[in-house]
This record gives sequence, C-alpha cells and structure tokens, in this order.
Amino acid sequence: MEVRKKDIRALTKEQLRDFFVAQGDKAFRGTQVYEWLWQKSAHSFDAMTNISKETRQMLEDNFVINHIRVDQMQRSTDGTIKNAVRLHDGLVVESVLIPTETRTTACVSSQVGCSLDCRFCATARLKRMRNLNPDEIYDQVVAIDNESRLYFDRPLSNIVFMGMGEPLMNYNNVLKAIEKITSPEGLGMSPKRIVVSTSGVPKMIKKMADEEVKFALAVSLHSAIDEVRTSIMPFNATFPLKELRESLEYWYAKTKNRITYEYVVWEGINDTQKDVDALVKFCKFAPSKVNLIEYNPIDDGEFQQASEAAVEMYKRTLERNGITVTVRRSRGKDIDAACGQLANKS
Ligand code: SAH
Repeated sequence: MEVRKKDIRALTKEQLRDFFVAQGDKAFRGTQVYEWLWQKSAHSFDAMTNISKETRQMLEDNFVINHIRVDQMQRSTDGTIKNAVRLHDGLVVESVLIPTETRTTACVSSQVGCSLDCRFCATARLKRMRNLNPDEIYDQVVAIDNESRLYFDRPLSNIVFMGMGEPLMNYNNVLKAIEKITSPEGLGMSPKRIVVSTSGVPKMIKKMADEEVKFALAVSLHSAIDEVRTSIMPFNATFPLKELRESLEYWYAKTKNRITYEYVVWEGINDTQKDVDALVKFCKFAPSKVNLIEYNPIDDGEFQQASEAAVEMYKRTLERNGITVTVRRSRGKDIDAACGQLANKS
C-alpha cells in the first residue's frame, strides 16, 4: 500500500537529527540534510551530493520535498518580474520582483486566495483555498533572489508580504518562514528589511508585539472612518478601527517601531478634507509614515483614483502634522503585477 510520504521540511533541525539517530546514523547527517533543504534550497534528494546514495534513497522512501515550481515568468517594461508559482498540489500563487536603482524587493504571497473581501482588490475575488506552508513562502523568496542575481546582478535586498493573502491570518507559517529567511541557516537576511502588511487583525498585531518581532509592520488602512472603511473593507465591521488603533498603540509601546500605513485615495470615497483629518487623528499617536498608493484598476470603474489635487491635499495635511508621506507609483501594471492585481489571470 502506498504510504503518504511526509514533507521533510516540516521537520525541525532537531527532529531531523533525531530521525537519523533512530536510523542508526549520525545526528550530523541530519544537519547536513537540513543545510541542503534550507540554505542550499535543494529541489531533490539527488542533489545532496555529500550524502551517500543509500541514504538519499532512504530519504526518498520516507519523505518528499514539496518545492515550488515557477511555471511562468513575465517581465514588465519597467523591469518588474511576476512569477506564477505552482505548488505541490497544483494550486498557483503569484510573487513579484520589484527592482529600483538601489534595491530589489520581493513581494510574496502568504495564502492561496484570500478570505478578506476588499472591494478594490483582485485577489479578493479568489476564495481562500489554503494557507501557504513556511517552505512555500521561503521558496518564493529564494526564486526571486535567484532572479535578482541573474537579471540584476545583485542579491535580493527587501521582502514585503504584500502578495496574495492576509499574512496575519496565516500567522504561524509566516513567522516560521521569516525565521528561516533571517536565520544564518537559511538566507541570513536582516528582519529590518522585511515588511509584513496587514489589513489589520488586532489580536495578531498584539501577539506580534508580545513576541517582539523584529520586522516592520504596514497596515492597509484606506480610511480612518468606520463607515467608509467597512464599505470598502467589509471585515472592518468585525475588527473596527477602535480595536485596530488599540492594537497599534500596544505594538508601538512594545516595539517603538514606526508604523507604515498604506492608503489609496479614491474619488468620491475618501477624497475630502474630513477623510484626511480622520487619518491624521488616527495615526498621530506614534511616528507614522503614510504611503499613498496609486490605484490599480481591477474592475469596471466602480473605483477611481482621486484627482492629483486630492492626493496633494492629503500630502500637505499629513506633512503639516508631522507625518511622513510618500506617493508611490505602481510598478509592473502591464503584466498585472501591481498591488491588488494578483489573481492568476493566466
Ligand atoms: N492582506 C494584506 C496583504 C496584501 S498587500 C494587506 O491587506 O495589507 C496588498 C496591498 O495592496 C494592500 O495595501 C492593499 O490594500 C493594496 N491594494 C489592494 N488592491 C489594490 C488596488 N487595486 N490598487 C492599489 N492597491 C491595492
């Protein structure tokens, strides 16, 4: 009878070492295999050239390596690359490489689809199929690091969890992936170069604060007025702004880390002075930065980017109140790789 083999990367280093000891081998063999699995990102047991053939066969008989496969790679005229990533069970997610003069940023997915229902986001139209495993998140980063070296002649420098899914609804796996990404036994990247972006799950923000995580937090706010926010991000009815704000105060008190807000200004939705004032009031309690993101149309015109004048008004008001503002142009629009456009069209 065919036994279902275990995903070897679900094992910790200790468990792998114990496994080898139980096989009558040395614990050290476990460490070697662990290095192949993470640091060297081996796709197969056969690639583990310092492991004997018999041992590789034994591993093959017991385990699988559920490595992702980049099925399709698209390149934008602005250099942005989008990967369609096939998972071991056939599902597909997307990740994006965003090059600038000085950085290469990986935008990675945390779930297949999304359970939130943001009206302006293409991913919301795919129902949430499942969470990604830590190794599936890790593999996306490795794939983009390789592409960065290949096409831009430099390693990946930054990671944002702004692809498909809500990272805080897959908290444990996202944290495990970050642990591997930042560990010297993995990619050895600095947590300061990682941003986890959330629609705002208060309980999880507090948990992150308690665990004293070292990466940065971004909150997709889009409105600081409950009725408006609920109309465009329905889950705001469950996690209203007051609770979100409390969790952020808690986060700031514990971590002293500046908070970044992502914000799109839409015509007729949040483009008045009243909307800006509410935003100022919401984020003034801690050093904050607001990224005014360009809207990437995904629909038949229900949402429209506000006028330049409205964006200017936001910028002026925020700056006058000591809040840092950046106005961000979208990248990779021609290949549907920009914020909110990830939806596996292919
Ligand atoms: N669920 C997480 C991660 C997704 S990040 C979060 O909400 O933060 C993707 C970012 O793109 C979020 O800030 C989201 O609000 C924004 N976004 C979604 N759809 C967009 C669109 N059509 N145009 C511009 N930004 C969009």
